[in-house]
Amino acid sequence: MNKKYDTIIIGSGLAGINAANILSAYNLKIAIIDENHFSGGQYLRKLPENFKSNLIKYTTKIKKEGLKLVKKLQNNKNINFYQDSTVIGIYDNNKLLFENNGKAELIQGETLIIATGAREKYLPFKGWTLPGVISAGALQVFLKSNGVLPADKILIAGTGPFLYAVAYETLVAGGKIQGIFELNGFFKQIPFGFGLMRAPTKIIEALVYMEEILRRWTKLKYGWKIIRAEGDGKLEQVMLAKTDSKGDTIKGSEKTIKTNLLATGFGFIPNIELINMINGETEYKKELGGWIIKVNDELETSIEGVFSAGETTGIGGAEKSVIEGMLTAYSILKKMGKIDSTLYSKIVGKLKKKRNNYLKYAEYLNIVYSINDTHYKTVDDETIICRCEDVPLKEIKNAYQNGFKSLNSLKIFTRSGMGNCQGRTCGPIITEIIKSYEKGKIPEQFKIRKPAKPVNISSLVRFYEEEVKE
Ligand SMILES: Cc1cc2nc3c(=O)[nH]c(=O)nc-3n(C[C@H](O)[C@H](O)[C@H](O)COP(=O)(O)OP(=O)(O)OC[C@H]3O[C@@H](n4cnc5c(N)ncnc54)[C@H](O)[C@@H]3O)c2cc1C
Repeated sequence: MNKKYDTIIIGSGLAGINAANILSAYNLKIAIIDENHFSGGQYLRKLPENFKSNLIKYTTKIKKEGLKLVKKLQNNKNINFYQDSTVIGIYDNNKLLFENNGKAELIQGETLIIATGAREKYLPFKGWTLPGVISAGALQVFLKSNGVLPADKILIAGTGPFLYAVAYETLVAGGKIQGIFELNGFFKQIPFGFGLMRAPTKIIEALVYMEEILRRWTKLKYGWKIIRAEGDGKLEQVMLAKTDSKGDTIKGSEKTIKTNLLATGFGFIPNIELINMINGETEYKKELGGWIIKVNDELETSIEGVFSAGETTGIGGAEKSVIEGMLTAYSILKKMGKIDSTLYSKIVGKLKKKRNNYLKYAEYLNIVYSINDTHYKTVDDETIICRCEDVPLKEIKNAYQNGFKSLNSLKIFTRSGMGNCQGRTCGPIITEIIKSYEKGKIPEQFKIRKPAKPVNISSLVRFYEEEVKE
């Protein structure tokens, strides 16, 4: 028998938990599903309870409040937490199948909130699959979730402010940073200053990070690109080169640095696969980080009763996720007739104003994360694009030149996107590569089918035998 809820929230990040907090206060029955073991999503990462070492000391107000909220919600009788639970698929009438602990379970919500956050974006280069080359997010996970400094000498490269956050975290954890190499030039960073005006709490955060980075005399370079990572079975050195304003490499500027770890970060991509699965509308907005879930002012998607909040509606950072989580909750309360209309208008008016402010901040944020098309157009042919299926660019290029122009046809022809991550990593890369060939024209996304993520076949068999067959 399906369990029924007033609202099912997918994702227990800042957006999800802030929605749950308000909805549960109005006595709605909530289910929160998250594939992580802990609630709190990317921003509230912390060590397991029994871990002694904690390498990260600085914390923001939003993080302190978020961690308090997670604790408070754990004891809420109106909320059922399904942690370590991966969504397999969404079906008609907001039915949702997920896997937990080797078993699949079907639940149904009168309303649904997709708050599945974001993942990292990549610009591939030769050697990026070598052990010792990781993402900036992975370096953060080592530090924040495991209390481990993964190497003694670390090189950081890519685009945007996340690099500085991770550099700061590495430094306070006792790590040595050999340099932060920003792909974009210094002048491209300047508009971000205007963005920060829209988000005063971010100014303090930025100052804390920069103070530590500069105090340690960390090398900061702008307009530098990774050419390749090299090593015999593991990373040994990285070659970088200076680029001109168009993104082309300046000959003779190449520089090789011996290192133990290269952490790269190029911003974030919204996790929107679940809305694609139920044919909800999406849109490509460069200024919000690429493909996002299309929502109206109440954050309802094109599918009635399905809402979305946080990074899924545009990359905008922690504050935007908090505000949107709250906003979806009030929209649901209004839809269900649970809130007085005057109170609703008063609260929501303020939230919408704040949201608009953070959407403006997001536009500046995504400028500093953005990558010039030239960088995708000039990826070396031997570079692996689909890491799961080991597909190099030359195979994708060859198929593309022979008429396989869409992501789906390239997937069928080359197997890129058919592996374990189901195109989450290579899909956005191929999108950007095609975009660079097609003078900015955006190709369609991969078609998303169930299961949304790899799932044990035994879970499905058991579900069939226990719930369906009878
Ligand atoms: C690797 C990484 C590191 C980041 N670090 C920082 C940082 O240090 N500072 C900062 O300001 N911002 C950081 N961000 C940006 C961050 O995403 C936002 O600041 C904010 O936390 C987003 O909140 P959210 O609720 O929208 O999403 P998230 O916090 O990402 O929460 C989404 C949740 O949905 C869950 N989920 C996703 N798909 C499924 C599924 N199919 N089934 C079940 N559960 C699912 C995830 O496990 C996750 O817990 C980071 C982003 C990433 C990707």
